[in-house]
Amino acid sequence: MSELRALYQEIILEHNKKPRNFRKLDDASRTLEGYNPLCGDHYTLYLKIENDVVVDISFEGAGCAISKASASVMTTMLKGRTKEEAQRMFETFHKLVTGELTDISFETLGKLAAFAGVSEFPARVKCASLAWHTMRNALDAKSEPVSTE
Ligand code: ZN
Repeated sequence: MSELRALYQEIILEHNKKPRNFRKLDDASRTLEGYNPLCGDHYTLYLKIENDVVVDISFEGAGCAISKASASVMTTMLKGRTKEEAQRMFETFHKLVTGELTDISFETLGKLAAFAGVSEFPARVKCASLAWHTMRNALDAKSEPVSTE
């Protein structure tokens, strides 16, 4: 288990240091801000959706390592997915960080598994899920900024 924890930690640190898709998307069809006042995480998410497929996704902003790594991993996993797949992935991630998921393995979850440990730290759940909540609201074409409060 400690080996696995080290791997998960490594994924989070690496994505925090070098976030993927960390840029503005000039031709985004949806742009939405997300805040986590508790920690000070603040991001803008950009989505380009064509025929119900997320053809491109990116983000900008600042926050703690977990919130940034979570947004980064999310963008790598959602590109090319349908809205329905994105919604399902949101639900899986939500269950993962709230400790409701029993089958946690790298094989089934990919890099999402790196956030399994978050469920042990309730204050961190909002950090990890901020980008995901923002993404879901953007998919639903909501325009109000997302706040975890
Ligand atoms: Zn945070």
